[in-house]
Amino acid sequence: MPGSLPSNRRAFLRTVLTVATVVPVAGAAALIARQAHGAGRPQAQDGHAFDYVNDAADAAGHAEFQQGRACENCAFWTGATADGWGSCAHPEFQDVQVNAGGWCATYVPGG
Ligand code: SF4
Repeated sequence: MPGSLPSNRRAFLRTVLTVATVVPVAGAAALIARQAHGAGRPQAQDGHAFDYVNDAADAAGHAEFQQGRACENCAFWTGATADGWGSCAHPEFQDVQVNAGGWCATYVPGG
C-alpha cells in the first residue's frame, strides 16, 4: 500500500520511540533519587552540629550515645547512596551528606 511502512519498519520505529522516551525518564528518576539522598552536597565533617561524628564508634564516650545507634537507623535518615553517604532531614544537616554509620546527639530512634 502506498504511503504505509512495512511492519518491520513500524516495529523498529516503535522500539526507537520507546527507548527515546524511557531512557530519559529512567535517568531523571535516578538523578532525583541521588539528589534526594544528598548526592552533590559535601560530606559532613565531625562536629558539623550536635557533636556529629562520621563513625558512631567515635561517640562511645558521649553521654547521650547508646550502642547500636547510627544515622542509618535514625528517624531523620532518608536513605543512602551506594557509597554509604546519605541525607538527614534535620534542618542542621540539610546542606551536607551524613554517613550511614555516623551519629549525632539529636538522634531519634526509628529510622
Ligand atoms: Fe544522623 Fe539522625 Fe543526627 Fe541526622 S539527626 S545526623 S540521621 S543521627
